[in-house]
Amino acid sequence: MKKHFRYSFPLALAFIAVLLFYSLSYLSNNKLKFYILDVGQGDAIFIETPSKNQILVDGGPDKSVLKELGKVMPFYDRSIDVVILTHPNLDHLAGLVEVLKKYEVKTYIDAGDDYALSEYVELKNIIKERRINYIKGRRGMKIIADKEVGLLILMPEKLIESKNPNDNSIVAKLTYGDIDFLLMGDAEKNEELSLVLIGDNIESEVLKVGHHGSKTSSNPLFLEKVKPELALISVGKNSYGHPSKDILQNLAFSGASVFRTDVDLTILVETDGKSLTSNIKK
Ligand SMILES: [Zn+2]
Repeated sequence: MKKHFRYSFPLALAFIAVLLFYSLSYLSNNKLKFYILDVGQGDAIFIETPSKNQILVDGGPDKSVLKELGKVMPFYDRSIDVVILTHPNLDHLAGLVEVLKKYEVKTYIDAGDDYALSEYVELKNIIKERRINYIKGRRGMKIIADKEVGLLILMPEKLIESKNPNDNSIVAKLTYGDIDFLLMGDAEKNEELSLVLIGDNIESEVLKVGHHGSKTSSNPLFLEKVKPELALISVGKNSYGHPSKDILQNLAFSGASVFRTDVDLTILVETDGKSLTSNIKK
């Protein structure tokens, strides 16, 4: 037995040292990380603030989001602070059901849409069973995600009557220092032009392009106000013609560099609140 201890003790020490090194290197920076995860045709956006608070916006079309989260979260981390569902379409919702089963989620936000979709009902049941803090996302709410990081909900102001869930997509602006990220969900022209008409300051360095680059979104008037440096499209194989050639042109015309998950895979944009760096170079 003694012999056994003589060998296992240094091993245990080495293990603790490796874990400590891993944790310290993980904790020691002031960067916000913004990932568009490669989940195929759908959206899943993972945000980690400098203090390692985490927000997941949408969960993609299936459980591929779990594999993707495994690549960007430390192996010992089994919780996510805030989960947001922009709207209850399966390419945003289905993966979230898997996330809620596998991770401890503290707060869940959606627009409070009322749809009888079975996956949406399942998701709402999990939220009730696990007593997850539920918030109905409305214009003007701000999530203080970190000392200098806020996520401001811009849309919807109230739910409008529509058979298209995209029309009530949660739109939000994430701000860290001088850098803004505009998250459009699957918002279409209506919500884009509402933002322009209201006169919100939507100028943002990074635009998560609405509705997978569909021609229903990214109106030139709207892009003129956003003035994005980076336009990020979450898109996979699809039969809808996403992203539209016209929209790619609109985005290029607005001066943005365009990246897309079907070509560039998982996209990471990092910022210290002053400048941007990305894992995608062109
Ligand atoms: Zn979608």
